[in-house]
This record gives sequence, structure tokens and C-alpha cells, in this order.
Amino acid sequence: MLFTIKIYEEPIIGFPRKIESPTLGVVKPRETIRRHICRFCGNPLTHSLVDLGMSPLCESYLTEKQQAEEELFYPLDVKVCDKCYLVQLDQYVSPEHIFTEYAYFSSFSDSWLKHASDYADMMVDRFGLGTDSFVVELGSNDGYLLKNFVAKNIPCLGVEPAKNVAKAAKKIGVPTRVKFFDSVVARKMADKGKHADLIIGKNVLAQVPGLNDFVEGIKILLKPDGVVTIEFPHLMALMEQNQYDTIYHEHFCYFSYLTIEKIFTAHGLALFDVEELSSHGGSLRIFAGHAEDGSKPVSNRISQLREKELAAGYADMETYTRFGHQVEESKRALLSFLIQAKREGKTVVGYGAPGKGNTLLNYCGIRKDFLDFTVDRSPYKQGKALPGTHIPIYPVEKIDEVRPDYVLILPWNLKEEIMEQMARIRDWGGKFVIPIPTTTVID
Ligand SMILES: [Zn+2]
Repeated sequence: MLFTIKIYEEPIIGFPRKIESPTLGVVKPRETIRRHICRFCGNPLTHSLVDLGMSPLCESYLTEKQQAEEELFYPLDVKVCDKCYLVQLDQYVSPEHIFTEYAYFSSFSDSWLKHASDYADMMVDRFGLGTDSFVVELGSNDGYLLKNFVAKNIPCLGVEPAKNVAKAAKKIGVPTRVKFFDSVVARKMADKGKHADLIIGKNVLAQVPGLNDFVEGIKILLKPDGVVTIEFPHLMALMEQNQYDTIYHEHFCYFSYLTIEKIFTAHGLALFDVEELSSHGGSLRIFAGHAEDGSKPVSNRISQLREKELAAGYADMETYTRFGHQVEESKRALLSFLIQAKREGKTVVGYGAPGKGNTLLNYCGIRKDFLDFTVDRSPYKQGKALPGTHIPIYPVEKIDEVRPDYVLILPWNLKEEIMEQMARIRDWGGKFVIPIPTTTVID
């Protein structure tokens, strides 16, 4: 199937009045942007993957004052395009609102830091990067990844829209530009001769509102024999392992291999390798170069994954329409567990305050009536409350103080690490609960 890229005028459906939001400040009607057309191919979106109801933006943690004020909720109704099978969300708030002050500091996860340093070593070895190379990371967060290249004296640049995390990156010596990456930024860099040997995008593509423009920017910025690697949660893992909680307003797109291949191909980029990773519950790392660059051998893994997705029905609308029922059943299972635990007088608390926890708790309607509090290692979140559910966030030590019967692990993708760190809850008979793919209690 051939895809033509067109620039679409975004239909704007605004609120009738200006709205004051405790978390977002003044939201003007023009910032309420909705699309009913596919972000990639422009096809009208008529199929729903799953409707998770109304939810606030999952990274808008609330101060005490904000908890007493009104809060904005937006529909979390996921659509799937019946032409290119891109799974996507309508956009309600401009990315500037989401990312100017971003609460997720990558450096607070040990396993993610290890993943980043392993990646840097692998790329340097495989593609022979050195002191005359140039590495660019799009959405470089607090510099957790690029610092590995800095340590190897490989010139690099982070492009990161959120000022607070960019500041943290600069502090540790990672050159960072506070910008949204797009084709204009890429063109400016390219015009100055700043083409990249390696472009990295780790968990950023899903958060890009202008998908086609972003990929076009990669095409512009990449050296003729350069390599781009993009990591993103794999839609197949999301659907098969029921990871509906990884859907949130800040993530506009969810990619299968089949769809990402169509998108890159449409922009003159050719995929030559793909790795299936365990990070974020199952991710893909794709490797691409210019379509004109014939120097990269194409790995067998490309055709294997393509076949795997085709065999599993990812080019068939029926596969997508089944997902909603599976999600509803998962909600019933979690609520059954919580209702029973509370009836038995047990104490249930959360561990972690990740975005995914907010989708889960809001969709399932779990508030302080089921979960007394949650804890998080990030000082940025401590003392605040979760959006929508207003569950308070404390430092981790609160668990030792309260000695709960159950600890519900919200960032289940880090469950091994967390269960190891928190093994001491077993001293008082505490148990871990994992909500995804199905509610599981671990002694
Ligand atoms: Zn489409």
C-alpha cells in the first residue's frame, strides 16, 4: 500500500470559554486540538481500540492547594486507523503544556540507567563511533543516556523541550538545546553542517504531535551513511500483555512494526534491523538509515518480526476490536481483589507514581478508598498527590512506618527491581500485587 503525506489543517474544536486549570494554568480554546484523522496517513478515524473514559493528564501531580481546586479531565478514547493501523489518541492540550515542566526524570530508575549505558557501548562498538562522530538524542531528558557518550569524548547534543530536565542535563555536562525537535530545527542544524552520525530517540516518538514532520526532521539531520535508532513500546506487547495503563494523553501514538515501517519508508528511511527489548513491558528498537544508503546489511530479524505480526493479525481490524473486552475484564479482576482485601480489613498501598499508574487508577476508579497512599523515590513527586484520584505520594520510608498487608506495584515494568529493593515487607507478612496483565499477588 502506498502512502502519500499531506499537510492537514487541524480541525480545532474549542471549549466555549477560557478555562482556568489548576495544573495547566489558563487553557485557551485554541489549545484544545482534536483530530479525527490519522496522524500518519490522514484517513478518517472511525474505529475505537479501547475507551478508557475520562482522565486528567497523567503527569500533572497536584500540590495541596491544587487538590482543592477544579481539575480538567479529557477523554482517553484510543482510535485505530483502518488503513495503516496506527493506534492513536486525539490531542487535547498543546505539547507545550505537557512538556514545559516534565515530572519524569529518567535517572531515578536504576535499570533504565543500565539499559542506557549498555546501549551506548553497543552502538559505539557496532558503528565505530569516535571523537569525530556526532550523536544527537531527541527527547534527551536529564542526560541519563548522552552522559555515556560524553564520557567517551564523543561529541553529542540533546534536544529536549522540558526546561527542568534539560537544566539537569546541562548540569552534568551534557550539551542540551531546549527545543521541540521538528523539521525546522533539523534544517537549521543541517544548514550549519551539523549532520548526525547517530540519531537516538528513546520513548519519544509516541509523544510527538507532528509525527510526519518529526520523521522528516530525522531524514534531514541524518548523515548520508548515518544511523537512527528509535525505541518505543511495542503495540503487540501492549495488546497481548494487556498493558492498557501505558496509554495516556501524553502518548499520542502506539506502533506495531508493520506501521512504523510504513512511516519510515514514506520518509525515505529504510529499516535494516530491529531488536525486541524487555524495557517498558516490551519495546522495539528499530535501526534505520537513508533509503539511498545501501551499505547496511538487512537483518533477518526484520522479516521475522513482520511475519510474526502478520500471523498474529496486526493487519486485521478484528484483532484491534477485541482488545477493549480484555481491558474491561482486567479492571473487574483488580477491583475484585481490592474489594475483598478491604472487606477483610487489610491495608493496601501503592509503590511508585508513574504515568501508567494514573491511567490504571483513574480508569478503574481506585481512590483513597482502596489505596491509602503511594510512595515514590522522586523528590519531585513526594508531597504531591496523583492527578484525578488525589492519592497522596510519600517517600518510600512511609511503607516501613505503616507496614501494609499489600503493596500494589504501579510501575510493573520495574517489578523485579522494586520487589528486590522492598523485600523487607515480607518481614511483617506484606505481599506484592502486580496489576498487569492480570492481578497477581506475590508472597
Ligand atoms: Zn492511518
